[in-house]
Amino acid sequence: MKILHLQSGPLNVNTYFLVNEGTKTAVVIDGGENYKLIKQTEEKYGFKIKAVLLTHAHFDHAGNAKKLQDDGAKIYISEKDAPKLSDGGNLASDFGRHFESFVPDVLFRDGDTLDIEGIEIKVILTPGHTDGSACFIVGNAIFTGDTLFHECVGRTDFKTGSSKDMIASVKRLFALQGDYVVYPGHDEFTTLDYERKHNIFAEYS
Ligand SMILES: [Zn+2]
Repeated sequence: MKILHLQSGPLNVNTYFLVNEGTKTAVVIDGGENYKLIKQTEEKYGFKIKAVLLTHAHFDHAGNAKKLQDDGAKIYISEKDAPKLSDGGNLASDFGRHFESFVPDVLFRDGDTLDIEGIEIKVILTPGHTDGSACFIVGNAIFTGDTLFHECVGRTDFKTGSSKDMIASVKRLFALQGDYVVYPGHDEFTTLDYERKHNIFAEYS
């Protein structure tokens, strides 16, 4: 499996492609805001996007998912964040953005292991940024959405956010065994070990 990455939109949202080079298929984590860029990447590398996993329902992460669903990808999101794909919980109206409502294909829960296109993905629910935010573990990589960032954590002042939940979620991530490469929902990559020492929530490690 190969991980590809691109960044889109004014909020520098990270979109990741988990590519199965054998089957020439890919799982996308967070579609971001630039549909054209995703399709160009798909074409350039010659794979087909089969699934899109959303770390949470906010418009800057989920805005492209409906279009990718129309193209044949199955959309995965947590049970808790699914309703936000068709209500104000995606924050599009708060930010003056357009968001096309849709119904996701697969709802996951904490502790689920997903096997998509031969790629094993472990789900950890990490409420705090939204009540249904999720992180995904794939091998030695963890995709943290808007839960854990380089030296920082996600905002907890949006609808369904909770600082108490965020503390518990970050504690849970720091308590994982060993080190992981951390691929966050915005900005630069980091590692779990680095964040255990330098994050603003390092005291919880
Ligand atoms: Zn968000």
